[in-house]
Amino acid sequence: MQRLLRRSVLVLVIFLISATGQSDLAPQDTPPADATVVPLLDLAAMPESAIPVARAAVTSRSGTTMRFPFDPQPEYITSATNYWAGRDGASIEYIVIHYTDISYARTLHAFDTLASNVSAHYVIRGDGHIAQIVAEGDTAWHSGNAWYNRHSIGIEFELDHVTNPAFTTEQYYAGAALACAISGRQGIPLDREHVIGHNEVPGTTHTDPGPTWDWPHFMWLASLCAPPTDATVHASFVSESPYPEISTDDKALVSVVLRNTGSTAWRKGTDQEARLGIPDNSRALAFLADGWPAPERPAVQEEDIVPPGGTATFSFRVKGTLPGTFVVPLRGVVDGGAWMDDLGMFTVVTVR
Ligand SMILES: [Zn+2]
Repeated sequence: MQRLLRRSVLVLVIFLISATGQSDLAPQDTPPADATVVPLLDLAAMPESAIPVARAAVTSRSGTTMRFPFDPQPEYITSATNYWAGRDGASIEYIVIHYTDISYARTLHAFDTLASNVSAHYVIRGDGHIAQIVAEGDTAWHSGNAWYNRHSIGIEFELDHVTNPAFTTEQYYAGAALACAISGRQGIPLDREHVIGHNEVPGTTHTDPGPTWDWPHFMWLASLCAPPTDATVHASFVSESPYPEISTDDKALVSVVLRNTGSTAWRKGTDQEARLGIPDNSRALAFLADGWPAPERPAVQEEDIVPPGGTATFSFRVKGTLPGTFVVPLRGVVDGGAWMDDLGMFTVVTVR
């Protein structure tokens, strides 16, 4: 470590990694799966404002352009040792992120060496290639904590001062796409309660993935492909326009703003698109509809992408077909996955 002090800024970064991280391959206590197809997203075509700047410089060195999300196809490289068959009845609840601190090749060798006492389910090489060492249904030895090993899937990212001195764009893409596929298979929400670093495992002395791992960037990428399910689709109420009062030959605009409090992004035109729906898909008030996408779906999100924490605007018109006062119940829904929380929303249309 000392010799690194005399080198350049780039090496200083490596020094920081070395100084703060510990190798996963120090002795610790203690195989293929179906993939989920997700729609492709062209990040290059996204507005700059929608792409957060990486905290750590993430530069592609391979020169390849990876489209994201994609369908990760791990190369299955079994380890003859260093895992327990099955999960001993434990449910899979976490994804644990690590870095290797040694090269990809040495990592695979270590995972196949009994004396190392370590393994992980997946290893992601600097160029984004994914190796699967242990099946998700089996227990890998990656977190230094038997309970967490039983309840988690471990992903190692190659980080090595020679072969891959910094996390790459390809690794972030591959890791996020892999996390999305795992989420689809195991029902793990992709939030920071369920996607944790090795350093966050209780009792650990390890500090990986360390200060150069860009959590916000990784979680944002993961949200773009996180399967919309009951576990990932959530919303809170932000605002609503005044109740419309119109005459029988008039129209009015209603707007509702919801915040995405789940862990999957709302993406217009995909299975992750957020819509404003009528609870129970009732069509009883469809006579009020003016240009709705469907009789039980008054509106879709206006924004192209609403990441977790962001707000979406839903606007729709009602028309005064007959006199009366009509209460229109409303509830957000991602039709590719799940209804949002029932927030008791409604609007009241008065037609004179
Ligand atoms: Zn680790």
